[in-house]
Amino acid sequence: MHRIALYPGSFDPLTHGHLDIIDRAARLADRLIVAIGVHHGKKGFLDRNLRKQLILDATGAMACPVEVLFFDGLVVETARAAGATMLVRGLRGCSDLDYESPMAAMNASMAPEVETVFLAATPDKGFISSTLVRQIATMGGDIGAFVPPHVAQAVAHRLSSDM
Ligand code: ADP
Repeated sequence: MHRIALYPGSFDPLTHGHLDIIDRAARLADRLIVAIGVHHGKKGFLDRNLRKQLILDATGAMACPVEVLFFDGLVVETARAAGATMLVRGLRGCSDLDYESPMAAMNASMAPEVETVFLAATPDKGFISSTLVRQIATMGGDIGAFVPPHVAQAVAHRLSSDM
């Protein structure tokens, strides 16, 4: 059986938390597709193509390299179009669960053939969020513990272009 998993998110920017989920999800599937949500023409913090490149650079050396695509519609439609039967989400705690549970139920109702698979965050990475990383970086803090070096560099470059 050829299992394709889709891991959707904004990855703005990619963190060690995302990479942990990517690494673990890649072991559950034959192909892992990271899907970057680019909804409603929202620009985001980092340009979408840069976000894609940062993910490819971080995962290129993995035993099972991941593919990256963009989506702006329903995640289940994206999964269907990609032939994915697994929808991977990371759970950092109760607030993620509260948010994810109804979404998983509605996705299951729309696309019963696509199974949502929750991976519990690894304890020492479960506190990392892209939102906090952006806030810390914007206020001049060091994000080196939360993202790979090439991501920290891209974030610094993005902020310096604001000045
Ligand atoms: P964020 O919620 O940090 O802005 P995304 O929207 O890109 O990031 O999240 C995509 C998916 O990755 C979601 O399922 C989210 O719960 C999961 N995720 C994000 N950060 C972590 C982390 N530190 N550990 C585990 N899962 C995470």
